[in-house]
Amino acid sequence: MDQYAVFGHPIKHSKSPRIHSLFAEQTQQQLQYHAQEVPADNFQQAVNDFFKQGGKGLNCTVPLKELAWQHADRLSERARFSKAVNTLAIQENGELLGDNTDGIGLMADLTINHKIALKNQRILILGAGGASRGIIAPLMEQSPSEIVIANRTVDKAISLGEEFAELGSIQGCSYQALKNRQFDLILNATSASLSGQLPPLADNLLAEQGFCYDLAYANTPTAFVNWGLQHHAEKSLDGLGMLVEQAAEAFFIWRGVRPETQDIIALLNSERAG
Ligand code: NDP
Repeated sequence: MDQYAVFGHPIKHSKSPRIHSLFAEQTQQQLQYHAQEVPADNFQQAVNDFFKQGGKGLNCTVPLKELAWQHADRLSERARFSKAVNTLAIQENGELLGDNTDGIGLMADLTINHKIALKNQRILILGAGGASRGIIAPLMEQSPSEIVIANRTVDKAISLGEEFAELGSIQGCSYQALKNRQFDLILNATSASLSGQLPPLADNLLAEQGFCYDLAYANTPTAFVNWGLQHHAEKSLDGLGMLVEQAAEAFFIWRGVRPETQDIIALLNSERAG
């Protein structure tokens, strides 16, 4: 059977194997998909071994997306631009194609599933890692009034802002520099939620009727989803919908078939509610 996997560190929490097996069942594709703990210093070796053993495709998550970008032989345009890869696919000629489906996954969840309009909105992205890189360009395409990126390591936020400056109003800064600023949508693209932590956020950061979205997901509300609820967000969401949407796009790259996502998001939501 064709083999697929997700590599990451940590990876135990991943719902990707479940999602891809639901996709396979729905589309009647024969494949297996597993999660594998791969720290950054073992990435190259693990990828080489996986494809040498006949693997067909990989997802790469925290903290491997920038390494996957370096490792790919060929890049899709969105991966080239974002300098982060979450999907690797072996091609017929043996080349490894790197793509990034995070942006399209987030946009589908925000704008289609949750009907959140981004035009003229002030957007704050927390974090400047691989996930942030993948979502900036598709967010910019929706014509927000501005995007601000705040990061613990400030230099990374500033250079990310500079890198994407040609797309519109975007700048990077520290968390302290957010004092007295307000945003209509705050996206948490840090990995802080994975350890139950929260970046330092001022109480007045979220505008009235603003939205919070944590790219991370968990069976119980993440620290950032709770922060959004406490600060009266119109909606405070986690990244389960994005996860399913980005997975559907990866599945399409690998198998040429696009799974239907709504029922699967509903099923996964009902499983964690129960
Ligand atoms: P990276 O490791 O590339 O980047 C992590 C980022 O988080 C860095 O900016 C880092 O800051 C910041 N960070 C980590 N810990 C803390 C903390 N305690 N306080 C403040 N900032 C912190 O990870 P990714 O960008 O790949 O992933 C980020 C998150 O997005 C993860 O939770 C991941 O699960 C989620 N994600 C979800 C997806 C989905 O489909 N739902 C898709 C993609 C990602 P610094 O630079 O200072 O180290």
